[in-house]
Amino acid sequence: MTIDAWLRAAAARLNTESARLDAELLLTHVLGLTRAALYARLRDELDADAQAKVDALLVRRVRGEPIAYITGLREFWFMPLKVTPAVLVPRPETEVLVEQALLRLPTDRDLTLIDLGTGSGAIALALAKERPRAIVHAVDASEAALAVAEENAKRLGLTNLRFVLGHWFWGIPGEWERSLESDLRFDLVASNPPYVAGDDPHLLQGDLRFEPRMALTPEGDGLSAIREISHDARARLKPGGWLLFEHGHDQGPAVRHILERDGYTNVETLRDMEDRDRVTVGRWNVVSGSFEAEDSGRES
Ligand code: GLN
Repeated sequence: MTIDAWLRAAAARLNTESARLDAELLLTHVLGLTRAALYARLRDELDADAQAKVDALLVRRVRGEPIAYITGLREFWFMPLKVTPAVLVPRPETEVLVEQALLRLPTDRDLTLIDLGTGSGAIALALAKERPRAIVHAVDASEAALAVAEENAKRLGLTNLRFVLGHWFWGIPGEWERSLESDLRFDLVASNPPYVAGDDPHLLQGDLRFEPRMALTPEGDGLSAIREISHDARARLKPGGWLLFEHGHDQGPAVRHILERDGYTNVETLRDMEDRDRVTVGRWNVVSGSFEAEDSGRES
């Protein structure tokens, strides 16, 4: 069978929007080729060994497993990241959060940043890469997820990160040596927390079935993690520091309400590339209980 014939047959078997691309990604993974190189070899024979391997991967994809779990790799912010089923697959819309964070982070001074629920490390690694003078704290409650994030930092040669086992800002009993120092204050708190409502039918469909439920949903209305982080970040942000959340496309008004009620200023929702509400930001201008006069410097 030729490479071309295998790709056509595989695409026909996959009942997904991205069938052809998925087939190409599986085959490039097995053959160790780029897609361009694969295209140059469409008429070559696929050897029996490679075909057996890629057929086995195709079966996993037909059952719905995300491509990133099958290949163990996903690109985010121009960085190849290792992913395992212990972490959410990084999504392109999360790059909106990174862009918005960078707009608010000066390049000319030391910064202390934190990514809550880091998973593969996507957000933390992007910030660490783009702001070499920052120390980025990457927090996760999952030991397995944190190990993936740490490995990604190592592979990328990024050393300006600290890995913290914790539930948001809080330590996990018995793990105090790996928890956050209580006197740390941040210039920016970023989080792509679990935000899908517990009864959302999407949790039982498609790729989401294979992802860690604790990374997707806090159960209930989907907003409890955002409420908790918004509340607790107030004691952790430096005056003028920023809080940024990724959230569901229909959660913009609810998240703005939470931030405004908690006393953040400059609250605003940004849209993703599909023009859906995706990221809400707020600024902590409170100094010892009173609002500081707003400086005009860092509006986006
Ligand atoms: N964006 C994901 C989805 O709905 C959810 C990610 C999350 O809960 N943080 O597919």
